[in-house]
Order: sequence, then structure tokens, then C-alpha cells
Amino acid sequence: MRIAITGGAGFIGGNLAHALASRSEISHIRVVDDLSTGSRANLEGAAVEFFEGSVLDPGLLDRVFRGVDSVVHLAALPSVPRSVRDPLASHHANATGTLQVLEAARRAGGPQVIAASSSSVYGLNPHLPKHEELRAAPRSPYAVGKLASEAYLTAYHHCYGLPVLPFRFFNVYGPRQPAGHAYAAVVPTWIGALLTGQPLVVHGDGNQSRDFTYVETVCQVLGAAAVGRVVHPDPVNLAFGTRTSLRALIAELESATGLRAEVRYTAARVGDVRNSQADNTRLRALFPDVAPVPLPEGLRLTVDWFRSAPDAVRAGVGRVDGSPDQVIPSPVSRMRRKPDTGHR
Ligand code: NAD
Repeated sequence: MRIAITGGAGFIGGNLAHALASRSEISHIRVVDDLSTGSRANLEGAAVEFFEGSVLDPGLLDRVFRGVDSVVHLAALPSVPRSVRDPLASHHANATGTLQVLEAARRAGGPQVIAASSSSVYGLNPHLPKHEELRAAPRSPYAVGKLASEAYLTAYHHCYGLPVLPFRFFNVYGPRQPAGHAYAAVVPTWIGALLTGQPLVVHGDGNQSRDFTYVETVCQVLGAAAVGRVVHPDPVNLAFGTRTSLRALIAELESATGLRAEVRYTAARVGDVRNSQADNTRLRALFPDVAPVPLPEGLRLTVDWFRSAPDAVRAGVGRVDGSPDQVIPSPVSRMRRKPDTGHR
């Protein structure tokens, strides 16, 4: 079978390309990516056909989707704070980009479309664990764009019979996740800080909790979904219901690195979700055979990767987002932040 991955040069996309390339059922992989946050280096060694460009380009999508059986749509501008700073760019890439992908899929004769939504759609709803029937309460442009994306998938299933599968990812971590940029996620940032002898900065008391999923587990589910042509018009949480506090994460990282962390606590941020934990009943029903990589093992593998790729650690001291998907910067911190002229 033939698969197209949008955003395939990113963290999850690069891992997915490598995972799919090793599966015998898959004969050809195409990747489309505009390299806005991803990198060609993430695809090194994977047999893929690469198309540089945007999912906002319908002509390009027509070439990429021609003859494919499945599309895994991962292209997006991730990060809540980034969307707060530039809501239109976030909306174009995430919501309009998904609509363009769905239209191109329709023109291509209706390949399966699997797409990445996010736990951020639950917003500040305090109910735990988060099950898919909970009322969505997005609190950021990023979350609104993701909610629109998954709703478009559902609508395309009902209006045009498109075989779709919207996933809500929670906190994904693992090799190829960049450490040294302003919107870096907590796991790579803290590994980078530990390996370079810098303090780990915690916003709040560190008792806030997250549901971490190792990227290989995510790729295992995505691969099974494509090969098994799994269709589910409504969103499916892709996480395993674990609940790890940031304090516990620090202890796990100390154990994975064999290093002692210097921890600095700073003020909690406005809008920071206190706890996030998935109900994965729906996922388990669709993918009963998937066995998640436990956190200690996943962290050890991630640390090993960072140690083998010193460039990835470089400047691993970016601003820490306790949860890149669920943190809204306070208005004060937004006002104080200097304009970001860096490449993202
Ligand atoms: P990433 O930034 O590493 O990957 C996104 C990729 O999309 C990048 O390679 C980027 O260059 C590409 N891209 C962005 N805009 C594009 C466009 N207009 N056209 C083509 N390519 C474009 O992020 P990731 O962590 O790998 O996330 C993958 C997906 O999973 C995203 O949709 C993200 O919102 C979602 N997600 C991730 C997490 C997480 O914890 N990493 C959590 C929830 C949801």
C-alpha cells in the first residue's frame, strides 16, 4: 500500500516515516512538508519520496495524494503560545490546512485520512480522565484550530463518505523532538538542561500532571490504523491514561540520565491545565493489541538518542512549556516577551 504523510519531516512525522518504511505492507511513502518547524534530517535513512511545500497548496497535494491508500495528516504549527502570538498563521496552517488536505483527498478518490488533533481541545474542563464525549472547551487559537480540524474530518465522513480517523494526541515525547527552541516541549527541554548542567525550570508547584506517550507507541497506532484501514468518524484519544506529575517526571529523568537535577520553581502560568489524563476506552476497543512503551523505558531511549545526537541538545534551555499543547502564556509574560525574529 501507498501512504502520504503531511508534516512528515517533523518530530512525530519523521519517526512515523521510519516506522512505516520498515513495514512490509507498505510499498511507498510520500512526505509533504514545508520545513517550517520540521527538518530533512528527521528523514535521513528513511526511504521516502519528499515534496517540499505547504498543505495550503492544492496543486502540490494533488501530486502527493495521487494513488495513495492512506494519508496521515500531521502538518501543523504546533504549540499553544505560538498560536496566541499569531492566531491567523495557526488557523491557516492547522484548520485551513486540514480542509485543503480533505479536499485533496476527495479529489484523489477518497483515501483514508488519519489526522492529529490534540488534547488541548478539552481546554480547562477539569473532568478526569478526559473522555471524548466531554464538552470541548478550547482556550487558545491552537485548540480551536484542532477542534475545527477534527470536526471537518467528521463532516467529510458524513457528507462525502471519506474514511477518516481523527486522533487526539496528548503529550508525545521521544527521539527527534527538538530541545533548543522557544516552544520546545518539557521532556526534550529538561533532558537538554540536564545534559548541559542547567537548571530545570518548573512553572508552579510541579504537582500538575500529564499523560505522556512515547512516540514509537504513537507510530505503532498510526501504522496499525493505516494498514488495518481503521475508520472512526469521531475523535479518538491516543494516550494510555497514565498520570505523571512534573515532579515525578524530574525523578524519572534523573534516573534515566543518572544525573541530579537542579530545579527552579517559578510562578504558575495563567491558563496552565492542572491535570491531563486520557480515557482510552475507545482506543483500546479499536487497537486492542497495542502495548505502550512504559515511561521509564521511553525516557531512557530518549536520553540515549539525545546523547547520540549532541546537536539536538544544543541550547536545550528554551522556555519550558509544561505542556506545549495546553499552556496559555499569561498576558503579562506575553507583553514582556521580545518579538521573536527566529526561524520556526
Ligand atoms: P512538528 O512541528 O515537529 O511537526 C509538524 C510538521 O508540520 C513540521 O515538520 C512542519 O514543518 C510541518 N508543517 C507545518 N506547517 C505546514 C504546512 N503548512 N505545510 C506542510 N507542512 C507543514 O510537531 P509534532 O510534535 O511532530 O506534531 C505533529 C502533529 O501532532 C501536529 O499536528 C501537532 O499539532 C500534533 N500534536 C502533537 C503533540 C505532541 O505532543 N508532540 C500533541 C498533540 C498534538
